[in-house]
Order: sequence, then C-alpha cells, then structure tokens
Amino acid sequence: MKESGISRMDFIKRSALGLGGAALLPSILHAENQDTTPDVTTKSIHTEKDYTLKNVRLEVGFDYEGDEVVATKTALFTIEIADYRIKDIRANQPDSKVMDMKGMLMLPSFRDMHIHLDKTFYGGPWQAVKRRTGGVKGMIEMEKELLPELLKTSTQRAEKLIELLQSKGSAFARSHVNIDPTVKLDSLKNLQIALENKKNGFGAEIVAFPQHGVYYTDSVPYLKEAAKMDIDFIGGVDPFSIDGAIEKTMDLTVQLALDHQKGIDIHLHESGESGVKTINYLIDKVNENPSLKDKTYLSHCFALGRLDKVKQEEMAEKLAAAQIGIVSTIPFGGLVMPIPILMKKGVKVWVGNDSIIDHWNTFGTGSVLEKANLAAQLYGYSTEFDLSRILKLATSDVLPLDDKGVQQWPKVGDEANLVFLDASCSAEAVARISPVTALIYQGNRVF
Ligand SMILES: [Zn+2]
Repeated sequence: MKESGISRMDFIKRSALGLGGAALLPSILHAENQDTTPDVTTKSIHTEKDYTLKNVRLEVGFDYEGDEVVATKTALFTIEIADYRIKDIRANQPDSKVMDMKGMLMLPSFRDMHIHLDKTFYGGPWQAVKRRTGGVKGMIEMEKELLPELLKTSTQRAEKLIELLQSKGSAFARSHVNIDPTVKLDSLKNLQIALENKKNGFGAEIVAFPQHGVYYTDSVPYLKEAAKMDIDFIGGVDPFSIDGAIEKTMDLTVQLALDHQKGIDIHLHESGESGVKTINYLIDKVNENPSLKDKTYLSHCFALGRLDKVKQEEMAEKLAAAQIGIVSTIPFGGLVMPIPILMKKGVKVWVGNDSIIDHWNTFGTGSVLEKANLAAQLYGYSTEFDLSRILKLATSDVLPLDDKGVQQWPKVGDEANLVFLDASCSAEAVARISPVTALIYQGNRVF
C-alpha cells in the first residue's frame, strides 16, 4: 500500500473532523480551533526515574449550594516521582527549579479497553468503509483478502495508532488481535513487536480474537497455540451466528481460559434470543468456575440494549453477581446501551474506541475522554457532579474525588500513570474534551 504524504498531525486533525453527528459539532470545532495535538514519537520519551513537578492542579473537594455540587475545588501541588511511582505530594513550591506543569489538571492516565491495534488503515491513506454485504460473515470473506495486505505494515501501523492514543491521553489499551487461519499467529507476533517498541510509554493486554469464528473457519489449532503465548484473554465473536453453536464454542473458550489462567472477552453483536442465551450461558459458566470472576467481559453486548427495562435490570444484577464486565464503544448506530442501569447495578463498564479508521469503522479519534463526553451527552450527565463521575469511563473507574467529594486519588505509592489536561476540573475536561498537554506512563514522560 502507498504511504500517504500528509503529516501525522494533519491526519489526526482530518480524522477528528471525520466524526459525524451535528450534536458533536461544537466540541469538534473547539478541538479544531485549538489543536494542541502533541507529537508523540519514541524519541519524545524521557525515562529518567526521579524528578519533581510543580504547579500541578489536583481536585481536593466539591463546593455545594445546599445539597447540590456546584463546583470542584482544586489546588496546586508539588509532586515527586521516583522509581515509577508517586513518591511525595506536598504543598506547592512555585519557586523551586523543577518541571513546571503550569497549573494543568492532573488525572489518572486514560485506558482504551477495546481496540484492534493489529488492523487499521490509520497511518496510511484515507479510506472510508465500503458497503457491507453478508453481515459479519461477509466481513470475514473480505478480511481473507485484506489481512495479508495489512500484515505487511501492521507493526508500523500499530505503533502509529499507539501514538494517536497517547496523544489523546491513553497510556494503556486492551487490544484484540486476530487469530484465524488467514493470519494464523502473525498478527499477534507483529503486534507484540510494536508493543515491545512502545513499552516505555504504553502498556497493553492482549485478547486472542478468533474474528473468523472458532469452528466456522477452524481457528481452534491457532487459538490453542495463542493461548500458550503471552496473551491475557481468550476472545470470541457471536458464537451462534458465526459458529452456529453457543455451547460448543463457549465451552472451548471457557476451557482454554481455565487451562491457561486467562480471562475472557467476547464480542457479542447478536441481539435477540441467541444474544441473551449467550449471555446467560456465560454467566452460568463463570458462576461454575469462580476463578473467571472479575476476569470475564462481554464487548458490545448489544442484546442488552434490546431488552425492556425490567429485563435489563434483571440481567444487570446477574452480570454484577458474576462479576462480568461490559466493554462498550458509545454510541453505536441507533442503539442506546443501558449503561446507566448497568452502572447502577454495579456492573463494571469500560469503554474503548474499537476500530479506528479501518474496514469496520470509518470513525474513531482515539480519545476515550471523548467517549465519556458522548456518554454524558447521550445519557444527560450535564451537572458538575454527573460530569465528574462519568470521567470514570476514560480512566476505567479511578476518580480523584469520591461521591462525597473526598480526595481518593492520587496517593503516595501509586504507579505514576498520569495525564495532564488544560482544564480546571474533571467536569470541564469531560464536557469540553479538553486538550491533553502531557502524559506520564510508569514514571516515563511520554510527552
Ligand atoms: Zn472489536
């Protein structure tokens, strides 16, 4: 494939403008007008382990009018980093000769919990998705042609994509990676090279993903091989509509996870009866094998969006009891997922960009802060308090203040995974998708 002549910065700007929806226009114009997209390259990373930052803005509490949170209180601090961790948090010393963070808001660095780093057009010429025929099976046929071509540049593309995520404040991702008879284990091996090259500034966990079905294209031998490699989760996709067998496919997935002490993360696009049956079957399996609790996830899980409210609440209670998490992308076509119900019932809900500019999806800016913003718009989280809470979609649940406004992050001893934003507080950061100005991963200054 011909590499594009445009610069990466231009590409990021153009890609951001590709995001559709009139409701989003103001925030995009905001981002476009003040493009502070940092240039992230391996060279920009500083790996010295001990240093100090001054003028760091931290949230310290809420301001109330009656019982309503009307503002977030912040203060400036000096923070010492040593040996990957926060060594000290003390009163600000504005005159000290240390790195000046200029009042930027410090938050836990973001985490993209569902992405496909191994297959993307990002970093190459622009290409919109083509008309789909034949559903996911049609896409599988298309991938058989496309993937060998993508493999030629997949390590470099993955590195570019990681740089995009870093520029948007993410220092960690859960990446699904194709394991199928077309690419065999090559997509995984190429991604592992990219992750190794980027490891000073980015962490990841890997899902071995039988995109072409477990039995539909006989991916079993490759999945078994992948399970022995350095991966973290056994993946899956629509066991009924692709493999034609919920139990047989799920049994293999569960057994592989148990045998190799991995987690499970299944793509479930199916709605209706087969989708609900798959969810229930997985809940039963996890309850039978408690070692899978808190290590099992359903990605998308659109079937939940099609249930009535009573059924949604019942299902959310069962998922919470089995400690199965839901990973979503927000929004998804016309379907609105019952994320507020899931969160209310105690289900872990995380988000990701999924595909970024590839044959599945034209969109994707790489920002999970934007996902939190979209959730806020979709579900009506517009007060100071609600906006400050929904930041947890970007940070995978870590928030500076608890619901009562008591500071709970950062703490001395925490790993130094930090993002800095040009914002006065979390609520503003979510509402305005504030620009990211610096990122620190395990103490390494990424930019
Ligand atoms: Zn996916």
